[in-house]
Amino acid sequence: AAPTEGTSAGTDLVLRGLRKSYGSFTAVHDLDLVVPSGSFFALLGPSGCGKTTTLRMVAGLEEPTSGQIMLGGSDVSRLKPYKRPVNTVFQSYALFPHLSIAENVAFGLKRRGKKKVDAEVAAMLELVELSDLAKRRPAQLSGGQQQRVALARALINRPQVLLLDEPLGALDLKLRRQMQLELKHIQTEVGLTFVHVTHDQEEAMTMADTVAVMNKGRIEQMGAPEDLYENPATTFVANFLGQSNLVAGSVVEGGGETVALDVQGTRLTAPRARLATDAPQVWVGVRPEKITLTRAGSPAPSAAAGNLLAGGVVTDISFVGVSTQYVVRMPWGQELSVFLQNTGAHERLVVGDAVDLHWSPDHTFCLDASQDAR
Ligand code: ATP
Repeated sequence: AAPTEGTSAGTDLVLRGLRKSYGSFTAVHDLDLVVPSGSFFALLGPSGCGKTTTLRMVAGLEEPTSGQIMLGGSDVSRLKPYKRPVNTVFQSYALFPHLSIAENVAFGLKRRGKKKVDAEVAAMLELVELSDLAKRRPAQLSGGQQQRVALARALINRPQVLLLDEPLGALDLKLRRQMQLELKHIQTEVGLTFVHVTHDQEEAMTMADTVAVMNKGRIEQMGAPEDLYENPATTFVANFLGQSNLVAGSVVEGGGETVALDVQGTRLTAPRARLATDAPQVWVGVRPEKITLTRAGSPAPSAAAGNLLAGGVVTDISFVGVSTQYVVRMPWGQELSVFLQNTGAHERLVVGDAVDLHWSPDHTFCLDASQDAR
């Protein structure tokens, strides 16, 4: 029952019409997906959207209702879990408490009848930077260290695809952030395909080359993190990846490279390429960190010139460390969010100040207004 040895070269993971229904409820709807070999792929979505079910089908722990799972060109859909060239790391590390760290890592190789494992185990412990702790038991390790043991234990089997189901979920925030970078580093080093499931958008964006945003059993959008963030295709994706300040508007002139928008009686512009719809009624969006605030009537700083929404009043200010968040109430009653970097370059504003919002048309995106904005 040895997982396939060797490298993962050319072994894309392909899902074709993959579906899972429980009675009349469909948890995963006909998923079509290609995960290129060697990529760090994240399935991102809220609790209950079907991420874990998808991962469990790839691992062979859940039987698909219909559809196919292909690895390296062959259909693995009907293979028993242990016959698939995949390994899973779960949130609960499930290390063997009575075995040392080195023995935990060696476990997969030993089970496959391999005798001389010391060199491989040592190399793997070095990769996850645990060489010094090889003789300890799991209970003598921190959460982050245990997580790295679980990773080493999976990697030593040389799976073609490593599945990670919220592997950092049990760690505190600081350790989590640190492990995200380490995991990414290890993935680059070993060059395996990682499929990572998380509901944490920052985690997915930090680590993955490609992110698929899932909602109610379907993939809403897939792409590079920056691209999804800058060019969301739906309001769900826009809001799941951060704040998006969606204001109702309409396209009033759309012939050329830029489109003219009417937003609450103000004329704004956006690049045509950032219109995710042909519909005339749109949600006009801009990320909070793209906006600059000035006192009412003051000129825009050049980098933020172009789009102007006037008549705001600051209603809340909160310090967030690298930036400060301002909540600004607009004349039509909507509250918008603005992040200003704490570089000392901005004017000091207080609650009650009258302000204008400025940003570049390049940072303006438009979504179909028939979708819910929340
Ligand atoms: P979380 O982040 O909370 O783990 P998830 O996105 O991984 O969420 P899944 O665990 O894949 O979500 O579940 C998807 C949906 O399928 C949920 O609505 C869940 O209630 C349902 N579901 C999962 N397993 C079963 C089951 N055995 N029987 C019935 N419904 C199930």
